[in-house]
Amino acid sequence: MKFVLKMPLASQNNKGSCFWCIKAMKWVPVLFIMTIVAWSYYAYVVKLCFLTVDSILSQILYLIFYHLSLSMFLWAYWQTIFTEIGRVPLKYKIPDSDHEQLLRAESPEEQRHILEEFSKNLPNANVNINGAVRYCDKCRCIKPDRAHHCSVCGECVLKMDHHCPWVNNCVSFTNYKFFILFLGYALLYCLYVALTALPYFIAFWNGDLQGIGRFHILFLFFVAVMFGISLISLFCYHCYLVSENRTTLEAFRAPIFRTGEDKHGFSLGRYDNFCEVFGDNPRIWFLPVKSSLGNGIEFPLNLHQQRTYRSMDSTQNRLEANIG
Ligand SMILES: [Zn+2]
Ligand SMILES: [Zn+2]
Repeated sequence: MKFVLKMPLASQNNKGSCFWCIKAMKWVPVLFIMTIVAWSYYAYVVKLCFLTVDSILSQILYLIFYHLSLSMFLWAYWQTIFTEIGRVPLKYKIPDSDHEQLLRAESPEEQRHILEEFSKNLPNANVNINGAVRYCDKCRCIKPDRAHHCSVCGECVLKMDHHCPWVNNCVSFTNYKFFILFLGYALLYCLYVALTALPYFIAFWNGDLQGIGRFHILFLFFVAVMFGISLISLFCYHCYLVSENRTTLEAFRAPIFRTGEDKHGFSLGRYDNFCEVFGDNPRIWFLPVKSSLGNGIEFPLNLHQQRTYRSMDSTQNRLEANIG
């Protein structure tokens, strides 16, 4: 008995140190971004505003709007990084008895039948490429609509968009709004820094800027433009995806319904698509606070697919009545 206990503990310890090593490595891109932001703060506030800008009024205005855009950017970034991923509820997990039955099944048809039986009360509209229930054998669960298995997180994630190393988190149902705001405010930050540094950048090339601090201003402008260019395409792409109610994964492979593949399957019209991510309260649309509609498991479908928020509510009531 002692031997049996010792082995797993030893292997767990080895696995543990390796696990923490990999976990630490995953923070490197986030640290890289934070280092750039910290340096840009020093370059903008100290070198540009305090040591280069002459007028007090300009200094005050520059600093107010700078801190405003930086705060919004960092707030959205924080929320994107530290919001927990949406996890598959317990009712989607295959119990051990059903899983054993699944392993013992003699044909794919039998396996398919077991999964169909298990999922008949689940509100799933999506199927896999063979028209069967979507099943994750790593998590031993039925995948809710729009959920996918993330190999980095090691589990199925609700309405998964993609795994982003720059935020060291999955971009998914729970933080998609925060991710778009992060892109938007980061872009605003870069544009603001680039535009306010532009006159001093020109002065540098005209030889009107003196002192060692002028190189900080030069690089500040370059870095802001470089990040701004890379952010603008990503931000515009995600605005397009929101307007179409599509995730990045769904843009690569359209979701499949019982009726077949349909890339517009979840699209409810541009305004409703926007509200699904940003919520129905305009006052908090642009604040990185939770306001997305729905539960990440069940999504209203377009008119062709016939499922709306109203029909979802009645299904929920029916289920609750049955349980009661
Ligand atoms: Zn999974
Ligand atoms: Zn992930």
